[in-house]
Amino acid sequence: MDLSPNPALEPFRKDVREFFESEYPQDIRAKVATGASLTTAEVRKSEMALGAKGWLASAWPQEYGGPGWGLEEQYIFDEELERAGIPTVTPMGVIYVGPIFYTFGSDAQKEKWLPGTRDGSLGWAQGYSEPDSGSDLASLQFSAKRDGDEYVLNGTKIWTSAAQHADWIFILARTSKEEKKQMGISFICSEMDRPGVTLKPIITIDGKHVLNMVIFDDVRVPADYLIGEEGKGWTYSQYLLGFERTSYARIGGKRKQLSHIRALATAEPTGGNRKLIDDDAFARKLTDAELAVDGLEMTVLRVLSAVKDGGSPGKEASIIKILATETAQQITTLYLDVAASHGQRKFDDSVSPDWTGHTAYAAPGVSTYFGARAQSIYGGTNEIQKNIIAKRVLGL
Ligand SMILES: Cc1cc2nc3c(=O)[nH]c(=O)nc-3n(C[C@H](O)[C@H](O)[C@H](O)COP(=O)(O)OP(=O)(O)OC[C@H]3O[C@@H](n4cnc5c(N)ncnc54)[C@H](O)[C@@H]3O)c2cc1C
Repeated sequence: MDLSPNPALEPFRKDVREFFESEYPQDIRAKVATGASLTTAEVRKSEMALGAKGWLASAWPQEYGGPGWGLEEQYIFDEELERAGIPTVTPMGVIYVGPIFYTFGSDAQKEKWLPGTRDGSLGWAQGYSEPDSGSDLASLQFSAKRDGDEYVLNGTKIWTSAAQHADWIFILARTSKEEKKQMGISFICSEMDRPGVTLKPIITIDGKHVLNMVIFDDVRVPADYLIGEEGKGWTYSQYLLGFERTSYARIGGKRKQLSHIRALATAEPTGGNRKLIDDDAFARKLTDAELAVDGLEMTVLRVLSAVKDGGSPGKEASIIKILATETAQQITTLYLDVAASHGQRKFDDSVSPDWTGHTAYAAPGVSTYFGARAQSIYGGTNEIQKNIIAKRVLGL
């Protein structure tokens, strides 16, 4: 496989870079650089800036308003986005549910949800997990009962990322009890501000508010919020998970973190005149992490080139999920070496830290380390991905 940059795409890279450095809202970029979390208005502003350019739904087919980029353009775009420190696109809308709408939705549903999802004006959350259903998702109990022209939704979703920024949520709900539990599950949408929806924030060990519990108490939604056929939700959700698991790669962001760690370790003495980079054990760990990113990049390109025709990445996406999340954890562990004893200071999300030196960087770096531990849990734990690889890729 030829991994060298394609000179024909250099003008495209230049255009993307210029957009991020001038047209894109620079106040958002500056806030992200401090490590502080964005407000809902700032998330919308960032995504609508990409949407106005036609670049938010970067992987959608042109027929549905995508930019018509090939794999290489998408790859360059993601690389430049992360290099410029632009917040990663909230995946629940354009990456996860958008392809479900244009693949399985009715014409009316496409008309209702595709434009706002594509231009960034609608925020989405993913309501799959429940307090007693995570890895064994098919055991979910959240219920949707048909009542005339409506469904009545009852139950609790948990670990719902970014639900505080969302206007809508897509849900897996049980519409019937079948012998094969996957068969009675349906895929339904709801506004987050419907009467009977309650959101409870969950603050995690990295000091951030990303997660939520979302409780539905007799919430009525129109029956045409059901996607596709009743009882087929499991099939649609599996299609979606292929996109979800491939989206973890984030090569550009990983390279940015590595060069940041290298710069911090090279800049400041850790005691006497010695710099952290002079420590052989640290230098070896840093090089190992850099090589892991190269290996990850080759695997991603191999898997993605197999789905050039626009299909779902499928079961091979599990390989990327494991590699990408383990590499993220390997990289962010280096922040602990950088932080050393300064890492004991608690990260305060409401204060904009000064990131210029390793002492100042310690608290946000350790927060990043803690945040990355969750990567091998969400999107289906890495143990579950290994089961998928054993059964469906290797046929064991
Ligand atoms: C930061 C974060 C964000 C998330 N965002 C969302 C979201 O937006 N929407 C959403 O719906 N969910 C979300 N989740 C939930 C996530 O998908 C679940 O946490 C995950 O699927 C695991 O489920 P669980 O937490 O119930 O753990 P469990 O399923 O109880 O698993 C506990 C442990 O047992 C292991 N295990 C379980 N079954 C097996 C098996 N068969 N073989 C081997 N090992 C097994 C697991 O690997 C794990 O180590 C998020 C989670 C986190 C941490």
